[in-house]
Amino acid sequence: MSLRDWFKRKDGAGGAGEGAPDTPEPTPTDLEHMARALELAREASAAGETPVGAVVYETESGRVLAEAANTRERERDPAGHAEFLAIRDAAAAVGDWRLSHCTLVVTLEPCPMCAGMIVNARVGRVVYGANDPKAGACESLYTITDDPRLNHRPQVIGGVMAEESAELLRGFFRSLRERNRGRKGGG
Ligand SMILES: [Zn+2]
Repeated sequence: MSLRDWFKRKDGAGGAGEGAPDTPEPTPTDLEHMARALELAREASAAGETPVGAVVYETESGRVLAEAANTRERERDPAGHAEFLAIRDAAAAVGDWRLSHCTLVVTLEPCPMCAGMIVNARVGRVVYGANDPKAGACESLYTITDDPRLNHRPQVIGGVMAEESAELLRGFFRSLRERNRGRKGGG
């Protein structure tokens, strides 16, 4: 379902179309792992990273295969995005690059690089938090995860615990701006 539909549903303003049988909803397991991903994002923020966290779990069992947060600054790695690292670690954990039996939970809408990784790893389900109007590639800027020209399309559920995620990001960038301002003022 689109982010717009998700919000419509949450505040009950949508009304019509309620209960469409194939409308995906986050499961309690998704929410549990999203809470963990938010925790990872918070830790990353304390280490000076953009606060994004991700968990990959086996959809059937709920077993966590990998979790990660952004490491781009610390590792000076352009691929140091939480979901990119979590997918790679999950593949290593199962000994197979195919993750069709897995769910990726990530606090921010994946970028084109990570959406490409999701398609290439055949990730079965993607559950994400806040949308990213500047780089999102599931819905906002591109729809890489729902492009019929590509050979894999995961089930995608966006907007899950989005406000918590967005607040973390806003707080992070606010303090970054304040720090930069302080530096200029003092220098
Ligand atoms: Zn990314």
